Amino acid sequence: MWPVLCSIHLEPVIVFPVTLTLGSQRPLDLTFLEDAVTEIKQLLESGLTFDGRIIRVKMRCIVCDAPAKAMVKRTKQFSAYYGCDRCEQKGCWENRMTYQEVDGFKLRTDHSFRAQNQPEHHNGSTPLTDLPIDMIGQFPIDYMHQACLGVMKKLFTIWTRGEKGRSRQTMMSIGQVDIVSARLLDLQGCIPSCFARKPRSLQDLERWKATELRQFLVYTGKLVLPGVLRQDLYELFLSFSVAISILLSPSLVSQHASFAHKLLQYFVAKGRELYGPSFLVYNVHSMLHLASDAMTYGCLDDCSAFPFENYMHKLKRMVRSGKSPLVQIVKRIKEIQDGPTSQSIQRGNVISSKQPDNCIILEDGKCCEVIDKTEDEYLCRVFLQPSPLFMEPCESSLIGAYMCQKNTVLQMIPKEKVSQSKRAIKIDQKQRVVYLTVLHNHDK
Ligand SMILES: [Zn+2]
Repeated sequence: MWPVLCSIHLEPVIVFPVTLTLGSQRPLDLTFLEDAVTEIKQLLESGLTFDGRIIRVKMRCIVCDAPAKAMVKRTKQFSAYYGCDRCEQKGCWENRMTYQEVDGFKLRTDHSFRAQNQPEHHNGSTPLTDLPIDMIGQFPIDYMHQACLGVMKKLFTIWTRGEKGRSRQTMMSIGQVDIVSARLLDLQGCIPSCFARKPRSLQDLERWKATELRQFLVYTGKLVLPGVLRQDLYELFLSFSVAISILLSPSLVSQHASFAHKLLQYFVAKGRELYGPSFLVYNVHSMLHLASDAMTYGCLDDCSAFPFENYMHKLKRMVRSGKSPLVQIVKRIKEIQDGPTSQSIQRGNVISSKQPDNCIILEDGKCCEVIDKTEDEYLCRVFLQPSPLFMEPCESSLIGAYMCQKNTVLQMIPKEKVSQSKRAIKIDQKQRVVYLTVLHNHDK
């Protein structure tokens, strides 16, 4: 099935299908897009009439994974010599297609795309150019596919299985992999319910979902890898982790996006040195284009495939038998639309007084644990002497990662202060307590 899904950029995010196309193979042409393009064009020109009012509609962006993006833009795939959708550099064959330049490359623009200035990049023309949109800037790099399922998974593959033809020095031993798995399982009780999943062992790595890879990349990796993964490889991972952490948070993006970009440049350049030139496949290279998208859209979660991927799972669950799946889905969607309007309950967002959903970090950096609440105050256990968890590549307090002493004081904290706080993951360690701010848009 080739659905075209849409979401309106308002909270809460609601995804709905625009067209659903079914076939026994991938589409041979782009006719499945035509209805959607005609409708979008009308909406952009005339707006949407609702309740007697005309509402102007703007298109924010088109989110696809890399193969689908190349298909709908009628360009070469990322595995081709001119396959990067954002820059014109020629790929370099290192047993696979790689992109070796880390800076100084020429960026594609809407104009250069429409004029097909680099003919080797294009496979033909696309109905999408009928729309008044930026054919480059409005097709952001999707961090769900490219950073989580792409780069993070690739790092895991190198650490656990090694790379063909490369030395085994960048691999962890079986014993080290087991230590990481055991540490991950130990964290299960600390993960608040705003996360869709709890950490799993690396034995299940093949089945890890994008949200689990993100959890490792942004949060748990920095707790389970130190002392196990080779130090220089760990430091490189940490640069990647900090960069993505910054790009997930709207307030950090507005202040530190260029630092995140420098970290990603370092990650790619140093990655080539440590893992060899074959490391620089398209997904790794595309991290060099990620910070500019986060700046354009405010943060990575505002231009990612996560909400659409969640909706795809819902669509799959609507099919109950193998007969006429499309009819089943359309009927089910109609039933939902005609049914009572369900208020979306954001369970994960309620601060509770029970672990692990009671951990918050106040605006002044105080790490707290809510133990009781009244109508307008929260009784909190406040951990003393918060200090940064690490100092390189930056003081970790920048991304809200702290370690505290075990001793606490009890304090009543006014409700409005708590409502401005950030949700956090709290990890009890032997000598200390670690607090990590939840930065991404919550899974639930
Ligand atoms: Zn590029």
